[in-house]
Amino acid sequence: MSNPPRTAISSLGEFGLIDRIASSVNLQNTSSLKGIGDDAAVIDAGDEVILLSTDMMVEGIHFDLAYMPLQHLGYKSVAINVSDIAAMNGKPEQIIVAIGISNRFSVEAIDALFEGIRAACADFKVDLVGGDTTASASGLILNISILGRTKKGNEVYRSGARDKDVICVTGDLGAAYIGLQVLQREKEVYLANPDMQPELDKHEYVVGRQLKPKARMDIVHELAELGVKPTSMIDISDGLASELFHISKNSGVGIRIFEDKIPIDESAFNTAVEFKLDPFTCALNGGEDYELLFTIRQEDVEKLKKHHDIQFIGYISPDPKEKVLVMKSGNVVPLKAQGWVHF
Ligand code: ADP
Ligand code: MG
Repeated sequence: MSNPPRTAISSLGEFGLIDRIASSVNLQNTSSLKGIGDDAAVIDAGDEVILLSTDMMVEGIHFDLAYMPLQHLGYKSVAINVSDIAAMNGKPEQIIVAIGISNRFSVEAIDALFEGIRAACADFKVDLVGGDTTASASGLILNISILGRTKKGNEVYRSGARDKDVICVTGDLGAAYIGLQVLQREKEVYLANPDMQPELDKHEYVVGRQLKPKARMDIVHELAELGVKPTSMIDISDGLASELFHISKNSGVGIRIFEDKIPIDESAFNTAVEFKLDPFTCALNGGEDYELLFTIRQEDVEKLKKHHDIQFIGYISPDPKEKVLVMKSGNVVPLKAQGWVHF
């Protein structure tokens, strides 16, 4: 008797696995306007669309409680969901929170987690309207689902980028990843010598970017006020390069970005150097920045030119095979997307 086939998940990777799931799914309801493949699903609701998304955080994979306080974990898990609604150009309204907890956690620990969740709900003006609670054999699992909405036609997909559109990013990139390196180093130092005080003060910005990311709803509101509707948009959870690959694939276009335009915070840059990391690689592949990456038409450039927190980093080209980074030296190199490797 032959053994049934067994294919390692690592042979597909996270995105290959999602593609495989997506290819086996058929949408049956005409109200399901967009299924798998964007930052949120899009559901017909008359004059509006409902945006629906979910994100799971697993202890030991997405966070380590040795350096992630539970309040921050609660806040971050809401913020990363809000970020997916922002990436669709929508307004977040409700969340549902499902938790799996082992008996290692106390009531006070769960209070702390929900304190962070409540703080994020207040900041992003969303309501916690339900959830689920279960025991877990393997640490803490936190799954948040979010519902947002916008006027029909106002939603922005990963698929709308067109030749000559200008590529924009908000804020600065790489700091969350660099902050993670700081936290991991401090944990090692602490484990080696528990009397050592963590040296976090001088790395406050990067550590804050890792522990307390902000979803960029401010940008969504400002773009609306300025009368700019991006042609495509995605939030930066896996790293700039990886998200650019999604825009390229979904829009069927090429990408040309410029190394010297990539925004990197000065303290993040210095910390990267201290850790013997290349700051540009951190910005391109670090992930967890939860900034917005979007494209705009050339005629909208003027409206965003003076915006202090939006940077033009390149433009869209017609050939989807061309995904390049123009180096400061003028050399043109292929863009590589590492993203996060979980499997
Ligand atoms: P994001 O980084 O924006 O949260 P992901 O990379 O997690 O997006 O997911 C990409 C797309 O794949 C989304 O549309 C998401 O809903 C879908 N997806 C991810 N995992 C699954 C799954 N297990 N089943 C169905 N759809 C999934
Ligand atoms: Mg996303």
